[in-house]
Amino acid sequence: MTQLAQLDHAHVWHPFTQMRDWLRAEPRVIVSGKGAVLRDDQGREYLDANSSIWTNLHGHAHPRINAAIQRQLGKIAHSSALGLANEPASLLAAELVKAARLPDPQTALRNPHLEKVFFSDDGSTALEVALKLTYEFTRRTHGPKTRPHFLSLAGAYHGDTVGAVSLGHIDLFHRAYAGLLFRTGQVMSPFCYRCPYNRAQPERADARDYRRCNWECVGQVEQRFTAAKKSCQPISAFVFEPLLQGAAGLVPQPEGWLARTAAIARAHGALLIADEVMTGFARTGVGSRFTPHASSPPLFASHHEGVQPDFLCLAKGLTGGYLPMAATLTTQTVFDAFLGEYEEFKTFFHGHSFTGNQLGSAAALASLKLLNGAASVRQRARLETMLRAELATLWASPHVGDIRQVGLVAGVELVRDWRTRAPFDLRERVGIRVCEAMAQRGVLTRPVGNVIVLMPPYCTTPAQLRRIIAALRDAIAETLP
Ligand code: PMP
Repeated sequence: MTQLAQLDHAHVWHPFTQMRDWLRAEPRVIVSGKGAVLRDDQGREYLDANSSIWTNLHGHAHPRINAAIQRQLGKIAHSSALGLANEPASLLAAELVKAARLPDPQTALRNPHLEKVFFSDDGSTALEVALKLTYEFTRRTHGPKTRPHFLSLAGAYHGDTVGAVSLGHIDLFHRAYAGLLFRTGQVMSPFCYRCPYNRAQPERADARDYRRCNWECVGQVEQRFTAAKKSCQPISAFVFEPLLQGAAGLVPQPEGWLARTAAIARAHGALLIADEVMTGFARTGVGSRFTPHASSPPLFASHHEGVQPDFLCLAKGLTGGYLPMAATLTTQTVFDAFLGEYEEFKTFFHGHSFTGNQLGSAAALASLKLLNGAASVRQRARLETMLRAELATLWASPHVGDIRQVGLVAGVELVRDWRTRAPFDLRERVGIRVCEAMAQRGVLTRPVGNVIVLMPPYCTTPAQLRRIIAALRDAIAETLP
């Protein structure tokens, strides 16, 4: 084992990892990266098929992002946002506000404008900020005795801080901390492949395309809002990942679900909190029937269905995946509720040491510029089409139950037999074993249970994408003969 691997084993505690398993094998120690390729300390190369846990957009060591960070480093790395403004954070806030405008001007007129940006450090804190702002805004506008209620989706994951965990509904992750959490409501998520209302027999296609149902999932959202109002405990905010839930198992929403449920929530007076930590920054693709008048494809998943939330939570890809940084965008109306004389103490008492960090802001500005460039739009469109074609070859395996692609993300659900949709027991570690077999073939990703996640950086070449899919195909064949 190399010295670096030994040091890791001696001292590093890894996230979401059973450390007993970890300590049994030699870790891969990544020392450099270029484009979609990661290299370890023994010179082995791997394709980064999950964009380093869903963060990277344009590839590693991109010359423009590196140069932007280096330029900023020559000036200053960090100064506090408590009591001071700084150059790149001010510029970035303005750019984010611009990027967060609904692309279709007609729809934009009828929706809230996101004009204020609260910076923090990661996805969890972006949600924590939205949660606290909603809580306080609701009490200020409805009276201090109001108890704000939150509704989120079954299987939701919004981060690991205690507030964000309270919004989540993954029993395996959250059960242990039940005693620390506050209660939030949960409503069915539109998981067509495993939906009890979907009467269709399995086909060799994305379950959203052949489902037979009466939109019972939307009906359930409506019922939840109505019941809450009847019991005099109206829902203050509806929290969702738009178009696709990530950690829930790459659960994509059928077209129209988001627009319909957002309209229901609005009609009941709830605020909308969009968790775009994973879906943001063009991850969900270029095409959209809701934005025909837009000059460039929307950067945010909500906008694909003409939905503008009151809180837009961003992290992961914000800096192109280079540095930890997050932002929670909100409206002037929410902002105004925190204005007052000093002695009224209406201040938002929340902040982090690295809020508005200059290096992160500089990276984010460079990443946004790349995203808005015509070359990136073309590259993303090509990759999306190619991914669709390559994924289709996987249907040949009887263990591929569902392939769900949304733009530049895909989940491949592995099952005992596609005809019955019978799942593997988690204890069989099928997802983990398939990913290890992929790693042996030079492709890195992490599963969500039995779902293999493919989320390549936008710079992935056709040859690299073919290698990713071939590695998955061979890994499935080897692991599940
Ligand atoms: N929201 C979503 C949708 C996520 O996928 C994640 C992380 N996977 C988070 C929030 C939390 O982000 P972070 O790990 O940066 O705290």
